[in-house]
Amino acid sequence: MKKIPFNKPYMTGKELWYIAQAHAQGHLAGDGNFTKLCSRWLEQRTGATKALLTHSCTAALEMAAMLANLGPGDEVIMPSYTFVSTANAFVLRGAIPVFVDIRSDTLNIDETLIEAAITPRTKAIVVVHYAGVSCEMDEIMEIAKRHELIVIEDAAQGIMSTYKGRPLGSIGHMGCLSFHETKNIISGEGGALLINNPEFVDRAEIIREKGTNRSLFFRGQVDKYTWCDLGSSFLPGELITAFLWAQMEAADSITAQRLSLWSQYHHSLEALESTGRIRRPIVPDHCQQNAHMYYVLLPDLDSRTMFIERLKTLGIGAVFHYVPLHSAPAGRKFGRPHGSMDVTDSHSARLVRLPLWMGLEEHFDEVIAAVGESLA
Ligand SMILES: *Cc1c(COP(=O)(O)O)cnc(C)c1O
Repeated sequence: MKKIPFNKPYMTGKELWYIAQAHAQGHLAGDGNFTKLCSRWLEQRTGATKALLTHSCTAALEMAAMLANLGPGDEVIMPSYTFVSTANAFVLRGAIPVFVDIRSDTLNIDETLIEAAITPRTKAIVVVHYAGVSCEMDEIMEIAKRHELIVIEDAAQGIMSTYKGRPLGSIGHMGCLSFHETKNIISGEGGALLINNPEFVDRAEIIREKGTNRSLFFRGQVDKYTWCDLGSSFLPGELITAFLWAQMEAADSITAQRLSLWSQYHHSLEALESTGRIRRPIVPDHCQQNAHMYYVLLPDLDSRTMFIERLKTLGIGAVFHYVPLHSAPAGRKFGRPHGSMDVTDSHSARLVRLPLWMGLEEHFDEVIAAVGESLA
């Protein structure tokens, strides 16, 4: 039986050509021509003041935590239903993740629960746009303004998505993107930090360049470079950004094709939802999504376990997602939940992600048939 994997990285066909160009140019370290092309593209597409490529979204989150000046004992409000890096980046600064529950419809942080979790030590809110569907950013930015908090968007899954027409990652003070091979636009490992407040730009360049003002030096704005601040090496090499450039050029067509697959799933699974076997994703009207993921919610953990097992025997790769951070060993050690985590616990136990990748079209009928059979 032919296996249909959960994920299959898509290559546009131009990656090696651009890598050969980077090779021929003989500039292999970071911040060469391909990095410039990619960061300019991101700035144009998102409207961010500055886009800085990093070697991962994790690195971009770590930079954001440094830029937010977080220190020991500071509190950061975030969902528990997210990837570990959302929390780790802040724990590395000694800050305390304070987890709040998610909304039942989008699985994003429940904005109505944020204000009650704020204490005098709260410094930032980190939102995660799950499955590339936006959080309720107007309400969240309003709360942040009232309490003078910094908002960082974990938009790892959100490239090409918008909230009321505004690109994800460009709404908070900073936004973090991922180009990991499981995301929509990829370079194997890769990411970017979007800076939307000009006040953070100079320091961000320094933090990204090992704590030195090397960027100013290369622009001829200082005559030698020196150690100025905290920092690390966060930039990707040119071979990676050459690969990424091929993907960015194809971003519109990749998004359109993924959206088409997503709609096919949504249409094909409508009947199973109407008989109560599954719940399909809910995308609010004011959120344009990017088809990063197609997931379904099953009635309970046991039915999910059986469903994934049955799909596996039919050769289909389907996976569950996050173990909520508040229940993980490190989450318990470094963070704390605020209030009930009922939706997080319930949804994380019931969610299954179905395959969604470029080229799945030709196997699509087989996947849908297997889903139906596995739920029978
Ligand atoms: C993928 C992902 C990350 C991590 O991205 P990397 O580029 O692998 O570091 C962080 N947060 C969320 C929500 C993600 O989905």
